[in-house]
Amino acid sequence: MDKQKLLTSIRKVPDYPKEGILFYDITTIIGNGEIFFELIEFLHNRYKNEKLDFIAGIESRGFIFASALAYSLGIGFVPIRKKGKLPFTTVSEKYSLEYGFDEMEIHIDAFGGKKNSRVLLLDDLIATGGTAKASINLINAVGGVCVEACFILRLNEFDSIKEIEKKTKVFNVLDI
Ligand code: AMP
Repeated sequence: MDKQKLLTSIRKVPDYPKEGILFYDITTIIGNGEIFFELIEFLHNRYKNEKLDFIAGIESRGFIFASALAYSLGIGFVPIRKKGKLPFTTVSEKYSLEYGFDEMEIHIDAFGGKKNSRVLLLDDLIATGGTAKASINLINAVGGVCVEACFILRLNEFDSIKEIEKKTKVFNVLDI
C-alpha cells in the first residue's frame, strides 16, 4: 500500500467543528474505491493470522473501517457507541474531553458470552486517546481481550499513546 497516497487522500478541513481544530476528513479515503480497497487489504494482511474473534469499531467513523475489515476476515463486528444509542443492556464508561465529559457504551453480550475473545479495536484517528482508552476498558469489561488498538491516523501532537500502551499494543497506519 502507498502510505503517501493514503495520507494525501485525507482532506484537511481547518476550523471544523470549531475554530482552531484541523479536522482530518476520511470521507475522501472511503469515497475512493481503489484507496479504500488497498487500505482494507493492508489491514487484512496484518491481522489475518492474529486469530481475532471480533473487530470493535468506535462510533461513527470507526464503524466504516471496522465493519469492512471484519467482513474481509469473516469475523464479527461489534459497535462501541455514544450513550443511549444501543438498544439492549449495556456497560458504559465515562471519559473526559478537553471540556466536560462523554460516555461510550457496549452491549453486555457483545462477545456472545465467550470469555477472553480476542478483539481488535479500530478507529479512524487517535488524538488525546480518551475515546480509545474508554473503549479498551469496555472491551475488557464484557469479557474481551483487546489484543491491539489500531488507528488509521495518529496525531503526534498528543502523547496519549503512552496511556494506551499500558493497556494494549498500539498500531497506527499513518501519523502526522
Ligand atoms: P480522542 O479521544 O481525543 O483521541 O479523539 C478521537 C476521536 O475523535 C476519534 O473517534 C476521531 O474520529 C475524533 N477526532 C478527534 N480529533 C479529530 C480531528 N482532528 N480530525 C478528525 N477526527 C477527530
